[in-house]
Amino acid sequence: MIASRTYLDYNASAPLRDEARDAMVAALGYCGNPSSVHAEGRKARSVVETAREQVAALVGAKPAEVVFTSGATEANATVFAAGWHMAALAPIEHVSVLAPAQANARRIVELAVRRDGKADLDDLAAQLREREEEGTVIVALQSANNETGVLQPVTACAELARSGGAHMHCDAVQSVGRVATDFATSGIDTLSLSSHKIGGPKGVGALVVRDGVTLAPLLVGGGQERRRRAGTENVAAIAGFGAAAEAALRDLAGINRIARLRDGLEQAVREITPDVLVVGGDSQRIANTSCVAVSGQAAETLLIKFDLAGVALSSGSACSSGKVAHSHVLAAMGLPHDVAASAIRISLGYATTQADCDAFVAAWKTIVAARGHGRQQKMTTTAAGAGGPLHTLSGVH
Ligand code: PMP
Repeated sequence: MIASRTYLDYNASAPLRDEARDAMVAALGYCGNPSSVHAEGRKARSVVETAREQVAALVGAKPAEVVFTSGATEANATVFAAGWHMAALAPIEHVSVLAPAQANARRIVELAVRRDGKADLDDLAAQLREREEEGTVIVALQSANNETGVLQPVTACAELARSGGAHMHCDAVQSVGRVATDFATSGIDTLSLSSHKIGGPKGVGALVVRDGVTLAPLLVGGGQERRRRAGTENVAAIAGFGAAAEAALRDLAGINRIARLRDGLEQAVREITPDVLVVGGDSQRIANTSCVAVSGQAAETLLIKFDLAGVALSSGSACSSGKVAHSHVLAAMGLPHDVAASAIRISLGYATTQADCDAFVAAWKTIVAARGHGRQQKMTTTAAGAGGPLHTLSGVH
């Protein structure tokens, strides 16, 4: 972490945990291919299998159900590559779900999204019952939204999927390590995970595939991962993922500390800015996420100001920053455009301290106070007539 920086963008990527770094450094010293039968190969294999157990334990799955991938994007793509006849999903899904669904499903049934940020399952049973297709059907619902943190009704959805004879997929990237996950009893058939959201390295993740469910591999070639994902395993990254999973499971017991920090931060923001909207604030959310909007402020401008003040945040989803595309999630929730365009996301994690939250609140105060000042100046300017000396002070965006 860069000194004197405040990092509050864990939903985009969490800092690497010490345990993960140590495991990776150790694994980098093993030269063997995990598929080789000699001692070096067996050593690499044991690293991969230990990590498989650690990841399985985090989500309550059997180790044999864990398939290592290059990340959640690949895990989601693998599930949809099967080419479903019908896919039911809500437009709040991550783009790594939406894009392969659109590319591969013959028909998409769009679930409605409520104003509170939750997917609306009211029509799902009827949609499944009355479908015209004979073929394969998938229902996908994320466990928690990456932008708002709103927890989704996955258990109810899985029950509907099961009784409708559909495959149930869950992108659990943002909830693992933040709420307890029990894949065994969840009714979910496939679950996507990403290492770097829990303090492991980037570029590794997993698809958890329920025992007895068969999916064609996306990558074919070698017989790795029980023929479910070809290619020599990224042993060091997998080792780091495993160590991070073990640490994340341990830290889950202390998730209330994160919730208290987040709630305190939101309370301070509300006091400073009574007109702030906490998006999804009335819904059950993961403990670490806050999405706040102050109408009239361009989120991109705010992010730059926070960055200059030493605070790292996101607007919309980090995967799409750099493009001036507005959040599809907030649009699906029915937020007015100007409110959605002003929303920023603060996301906390295992290393976040009260001092980080204080630094954010101090920056918020300055940046928002500047906004108030600018507005006042603008009003004064207007009252006094444009063109006077105050006119140049009105350009706070
Ligand atoms: N799903 C969700 C909900 C995410 O937040 C992300 C990461 N932005 C992904 C999938 C993609 O994960 P990865 O970076 O491992 O490909």
